[in-house]
Amino acid sequence: MKRVLIGTMTHEVGSFHPMHSGYDEFHHLWGQDILEAFNGGGSTTWGAIEVLKERDDVEIVPTYAAWMNTTGGLVEKAAQERMIAEFIEAVQGESNIDAVVLCLHGAMAGVDVHDPEGDVAEAVRKHVGDVPITTPMDLHGIITDKLLANVDAISFLHTYPHVDGRETGNRAARNVLRMMDGEFKNPVTGRVKIPMLARGNELMTATGKFGEAIRRCQEIEASEGGIAAGVNIGNPFTDVPELRSNTIVTVDGDQERADALAHELAEFMWEHRNLWFADLTPMKEIVELSENQDGLTVCGDPADSTASGSSGDSNAILKGLLEHEYSKSALVPIVDAPAVAKAFEVGVGSTFTVKLGGSIDTERFEPLEAEVYVRALTDGEHGGRRGKVPARAGRTATFRLKQHTVVASERPAATTDSTFFLAQGEDPLQYDFVIAKSPNGFRIFYQEYANQILYADVPGSTSADVTTLPYKLAPRPMFPLDEDVEPGF
Ligand SMILES: [Zn+2]
Repeated sequence: MKRVLIGTMTHEVGSFHPMHSGYDEFHHLWGQDILEAFNGGGSTTWGAIEVLKERDDVEIVPTYAAWMNTTGGLVEKAAQERMIAEFIEAVQGESNIDAVVLCLHGAMAGVDVHDPEGDVAEAVRKHVGDVPITTPMDLHGIITDKLLANVDAISFLHTYPHVDGRETGNRAARNVLRMMDGEFKNPVTGRVKIPMLARGNELMTATGKFGEAIRRCQEIEASEGGIAAGVNIGNPFTDVPELRSNTIVTVDGDQERADALAHELAEFMWEHRNLWFADLTPMKEIVELSENQDGLTVCGDPADSTASGSSGDSNAILKGLLEHEYSKSALVPIVDAPAVAKAFEVGVGSTFTVKLGGSIDTERFEPLEAEVYVRALTDGEHGGRRGKVPARAGRTATFRLKQHTVVASERPAATTDSTFFLAQGEDPLQYDFVIAKSPNGFRIFYQEYANQILYADVPGSTSADVTTLPYKLAPRPMFPLDEDVEPGF
């Protein structure tokens, strides 16, 4: 039997989120429990497991898995160090390993711990020796020198919004098997660093220019000797010393070819750099556009994206709707633990005056005082995306505020689809206007129902206008933060 080790550590950090993520906000699993939890679904971990399971001569060796339901602020230093240590300890408890699949996101970071994935990969390499290691990763990951030096191939997601987690796990597992079987003899990687942060609609792979680069990557992977090709744009909100974009191509045995292909992709990305910006609309215009459009308006709030590392407590769009006297009905998610606590005190059916928003990111958002009616209170659990483990938003209160509905939760929930709202008894498709705290991911679900999709020009710690953010660690010069940036490749 060949023993293929798997381990998972995924998180996407927003460094400008004012709070830090603690150990208990993560799910943690060890050993066989991982195979139970990641059984089906869209995760890269399941994608890897499913391919490995097909082989009678392979024993899957599950070690450790840590993940959060949503994104968050920098991980507390002790929590980050503990998770790295737990991961490494679980790996070190196994021996006679023939291959490894590390399921990482890439945009995890702790306070003063800038490269958790690299630290783990380095320790795993040291323990297992010269056996194949592959990783499925998000194209928003941070790719450090240390990480790249300790893995044989990275399979990046090839879709944005992301719908190919499982397939990416499949690809990484197939690669590791082909290396283990000796079919790929000498994986070599070409990598080009691009001093560029990217955001915006042209990054959508099905419709935007970025899709052309990804289709080229798919061609490379399908070619003779092609192993993995990806364009990695980093998470622009993970402010770490190796934040940037990268093109990374792994082929069998031909370093020159790998380098040339990585260059070709990098040149494409740099040439089109002026396309990687978001198109944002002021609130006054958003209200007008929605008043004049029948059916559902979905309003993306990329600046307070709980899918990109923001706090989720922005009330900026709600304020805009009220200020510009939006006459239709809106469904508004917000993270607001104090408001939830008050609602639980007064109970369902009560009307009271609450302060909404600005409870976490107090520098960017001012609380909105409003009279609300408490319609529902729940424990905030809703269908999870990781097998049987449900997502947890903490206690959740649903308020009526004039003709609008505000769903306040203690912790962030994914608002990219209707799952969380339905668990509160609210169907977003019954509203005229719904806020998705996400840059693009919500399109997967909402595309077929929305008559109009807009992006609000409001502040937030994950603003699509990256020039508004207080970078401290990211390398400079960086496009578009600085002028006259030279690509350097
Ligand atoms: Zn991503």
